[in-house]
Amino acid sequence: MNWRLEVAVQTPAHSALGDVLSYASPLPVAPGALVRVPLGRREVLGVVWSAQPAGVQDDADDAAAPVELKPIAAVLDALPPLGAGWRDLVAFAARYYQRSLGEIALAALPPQLRDLSTVQLARRLKRQTAPAAAAASPSGPALTPEQAQALARFDAESGPFLLFGSTGSGKTEVYLQAVAALLEREPEAQALVMVPEINLTPQLEARFKDRFGSGAVVSLHSGMTNPQRLASWLAAHGGAARIVLGTRMAVFASMPALKLIVVDEEHDPSYKQQEGARYSARDLAVWRGRREGAKVMLGSATPSLESWHQSRPAAGEDGGGRYVRLAMPSRIGTAALPTVRLVDMGLQPPRTVLSAALLDAIGQRVARGEQSMVFLNRRGYAPVLACGDCDWKSECPHCSAFRVFHKIDRTLRCHHCGFTERVPRACPACGNPDIAPVGRGTERLEEHLGELFAGVKRPDGSPVRIARIDADSTRRQGALESQLAAVHAGEVDVLVGTQMIAKGHDFRRITLVAAANPDGALFSSDFRAPERLFGLLMQSAGRAGRDAAYLSAQGTTAEMWIQTHHPQHALFAALRRHDYPAFAQRELEERAAAGMPPFAFQALLRADARTQEAAQGFLNAAGAAAEGLEGAQQVTRYSAVPHAIQRVANVERAQLLVESASRAALQRLLAAWQPLLHGLRKQPAGKGVIRWLVDVDPHSI
Ligand code: ADP
Ligand code: ZN
Ligand code: ZN
Repeated sequence: MNWRLEVAVQTPAHSALGDVLSYASPLPVAPGALVRVPLGRREVLGVVWSAQPAGVQDDADDAAAPVELKPIAAVLDALPPLGAGWRDLVAFAARYYQRSLGEIALAALPPQLRDLSTVQLARRLKRQTAPAAAAASPSGPALTPEQAQALARFDAESGPFLLFGSTGSGKTEVYLQAVAALLEREPEAQALVMVPEINLTPQLEARFKDRFGSGAVVSLHSGMTNPQRLASWLAAHGGAARIVLGTRMAVFASMPALKLIVVDEEHDPSYKQQEGARYSARDLAVWRGRREGAKVMLGSATPSLESWHQSRPAAGEDGGGRYVRLAMPSRIGTAALPTVRLVDMGLQPPRTVLSAALLDAIGQRVARGEQSMVFLNRRGYAPVLACGDCDWKSECPHCSAFRVFHKIDRTLRCHHCGFTERVPRACPACGNPDIAPVGRGTERLEEHLGELFAGVKRPDGSPVRIARIDADSTRRQGALESQLAAVHAGEVDVLVGTQMIAKGHDFRRITLVAAANPDGALFSSDFRAPERLFGLLMQSAGRAGRDAAYLSAQGTTAEMWIQTHHPQHALFAALRRHDYPAFAQRELEERAAAGMPPFAFQALLRADARTQEAAQGFLNAAGAAAEGLEGAQQVTRYSAVPHAIQRVANVERAQLLVESASRAALQRLLAAWQPLLHGLRKQPAGKGVIRWLVDVDPHSI
């Protein structure tokens, strides 16, 4: 007998081929099995979605002329099929984020799997070990009462949980002990622990391997080589790995015995994929946990307003949120949260970069052998190079943005399209040789600090050591690890960097953190900017004074300095008191009044085109076409507008916002809209459009 298989393959995004392709097979193949199938002139990897005897029609439409199906090429039967839970997750993500099944499914698999033959894979699998047991009785420090209480509730209730714990309150320890308790009860269970950024994985991996033994823990992130990723993936899929650590992509790891999911720093924007299928790994984690009966713990010192709102206590009429809030307000030991000091930059001499008071405070710390960290969210030397005689500025010829001056190799680099040129000797417009940097990035701040501390000596008479960590300084493989190691080893006195150093790191000897110029985000057009800024500043503050014993041995206290032109701003008032709930309440009231998330649900239709008119024309035609669709009455459609950075690499970008108080109505509209959009693309309204996409729950609008 012949079998008809529905197979998910990687078709081009938005292809008209539909979600699955049909193939013939002489034998039945289990759903979730990996197969190799012909597609066009190639042979590609696919995931079997369903199988039925050929000739049996489940669909009246199929009764038309039976089509000759191509046979599959091979079954990768050395590999156990992907489970129903995993397939449901993929199907949900495809539906919710408006992508094809095959795109999500194939992107969730390690790239190397696509290239291995059946024989190679079988050989690779033979090298895999039997499930690794976690270390016999992993023991950690005695829990603080706050930690113990959080864990007790985690044990007793079903969640999802929001662990609202200050920086340094011991959240990671709670994750470790939650995993330990799980593995003690169920030695074969699996736990998934996610962090927002690759650069936080080594630290976490070290802590987990230290506790559970290195055989039980694997990592999954895009910084790994393809063979490494395949090995981790196979260990998770085969059930050998007890614990999978990873970045957002890890939410799609195949874990047949998944019982616990941790999303650390759940508020972090990095959990939102910003290209291809634009999924939120945090939101998918919550969905996956419910589907697979795994407990979910989201952790943060500054939760997203969505999660905070979901975890509101039951009081008054609305009955509270769906999440269980676990609070850990205190830091470990006797360490207090840093004192926040605001410097009014309006009172400083013109062109002050670092105020005298801040420099003095850093100088005192240096003299005592303590470390300081100055944080500036802009890399490069200066964001613009300009001519004082004419109007010339270092604009990118291909984008509506300035090219950034990088002094280290004397280049002008566009951070949007990558276009790079040597710095011209003179103004390209008027020939003036005096073109000058305007504004300041981390490279220039590092140089400035070097000049200011040039004559200053450390306690042992040696010069002050200044270092910088940002995307430029860490481009080389392994550079970040060695630079972080130098900080941990006390080989740096003043560390300059971008948000890369503000997040997550467990620095022990940093006692002062300064935000050099955070004002930009206060008046941004992006409604999420204040939430982001508050989170980032709290995170940065969290890097200071993490070791109570060190603070008392030094006889010092931790400080967070903020240089601002708006010291009266309510955001800073809440920050001074480390009062996230007050900040969140105010923001939520504003969002509720304006009908914005989390009180409304949004999606963006984005289009790229040769001209801005073409992009907007397509979007507005699409908006009009949505009239009368299912759900449309409950969904507000706005007009198309240019993207915040309108042109990138000579492509014009525009977007159209749709919004609804009902997530279900928005989803119904998006589903009904999708086929119309495909059609519209081929009509005159789609002329000049290069690509379009739907971004559900967008992070920046
Ligand atoms: P967070 O993740 O909330 O920032 P961590 O879990 O990194 O905090 O804890 C901060 C520091 O305190 C770490 O060095 C950790 O090893 C230590 N720590 C955590 N819990 C305890 C505890 N119960 N007793 C002693 N030290 C602890
Ligand atoms: Zn000029
Ligand atoms: Zn550019």
